[in-house]
Amino acid sequence: MKNITIAIDGFSSTGKSTIAKQLAKALGYIYVDTGAMYRAVTLYAMQNNFISRENFNISDFVMQLHKVNLSFKFNASLGFAEMYLNGNNVEKEIRTMKVSSFVSEVSAISEVRKQLVKIQREIGKNSGVVMDGRDIGTVVFPKAELKLFITASPEIRAERRYKELISRGEKIDYNTVLHNVNQRDYVDSHRKNSPLKKAEDAIEIDNSNLSLDEQFTKIMSLVKTTLKNKE
Ligand code: C5P
Repeated sequence: MKNITIAIDGFSSTGKSTIAKQLAKALGYIYVDTGAMYRAVTLYAMQNNFISRENFNISDFVMQLHKVNLSFKFNASLGFAEMYLNGNNVEKEIRTMKVSSFVSEVSAISEVRKQLVKIQREIGKNSGVVMDGRDIGTVVFPKAELKLFITASPEIRAERRYKELISRGEKIDYNTVLHNVNQRDYVDSHRKNSPLKKAEDAIEIDNSNLSLDEQFTKIMSLVKTTLKNKE
């Protein structure tokens, strides 16, 4: 059976990475969380004092971008690859609310996008990949055989993200999370470079009222049809 490229885009906290991991596991494909890459670059900017609540020194940051080395290493016990920034596992740090509050600003920089899209295309060049993000079906792999665009109501998404952050020990309130979800969606959809939008040939899935099992079954049947059409 031939391998395909599966592009999963959509709004913040729609559970893209959950379904992407499930699909990659079931199909024996590589899973690439491109949001983790943008988050890791943001962490680098924060750690090196290019970005703070008060200001963002974009030109100096862009000049140092070549020092950002990103890699994924598969963690067999977790069943997916973790994000490494300059040799350090940053999986925990990149998921904090602080990184979430700066990531959309960093992701809007064209030099950042160019650098990361190049890596993403290289990882996915042999197909057999499930990649999730905001611009996978529109920019990174416009010829992906299956494109999904995942949505859900902002309140449901904020609730899911809130529970996730609380379970990781962050002290946060629901309204702050809802505000961040809405804010990121707005910036991601309105930026000049590769704005978040549904590719014309993407299939939209609203998972507000779908269980994980229902969603998996629905998407797996789309995968099977796509694979069959490719035979
Ligand atoms: O997917 P996740 O919510 O972790 O992504 C974090 C942020 O990274 C998004 O809000 C967006 O600003 C940026 N991003 C992007 N393009 C991608 C993936 C993520 O701009 N392909």
